[in-house]
Amino acid sequence: MMFRYHKTTANAEETQQLAAQLAKQLKPGDILAMSGDLASGKTTFTQGVTAHYDVEEYTLSPTFTYINEYHGKTQDVIHIDAYRLHNGQELIAMGIWDYFESGAIVIIEWADIVAEAIPEDAFGLNFRRSGEHDDAREIIINAPRELDL
Ligand code: ADP
Ligand code: MG
Repeated sequence: MMFRYHKTTANAEETQQLAAQLAKQLKPGDILAMSGDLASGKTTFTQGVTAHYDVEEYTLSPTFTYINEYHGKTQDVIHIDAYRLHNGQELIAMGIWDYFESGAIVIIEWADIVAEAIPEDAFGLNFRRSGEHDDAREIIINAPRELDL
């Protein structure tokens, strides 16, 4: 069973506030699977999550430039940008399950490209530009449990 939340934000700051509101309700091991066009706000939202956890960025080997690790005192966050990947097998071969089982919150942009690597109980977030205003975004969140958003 999924809980669906349909939000609109008027600017990037509001998107980060929404992200922080979600972040404080996340638990170790939660996965955020994001979809939406370029510039729809996925990375902006991710920054709102990492800001909430007061993390420091950790640079991985140049082989995995699409992965950023953020280490915090109470919570680690892994950010994966799958834009240049071809399918979920690439993530599985890279060892994505080690991240899923590590207790980190794992955020994946372009999750639709790597759908077969993403567990069914992931949060699904879809971003899109919203009509009239350049800065308006619609953000639909499908959550595996009830949230206060
Ligand atoms: P994506 O990761 O989906 O490609 P980004 O977050 O990198 O998107 O870029 C979104 C761009 O749109 C940023 O330049 C951001 O400042 C701008 N922006 C304007 N309005 C919003 C909004 N409501 N939410 C998120 N980003 C917004
Ligand atoms: Mg991005």
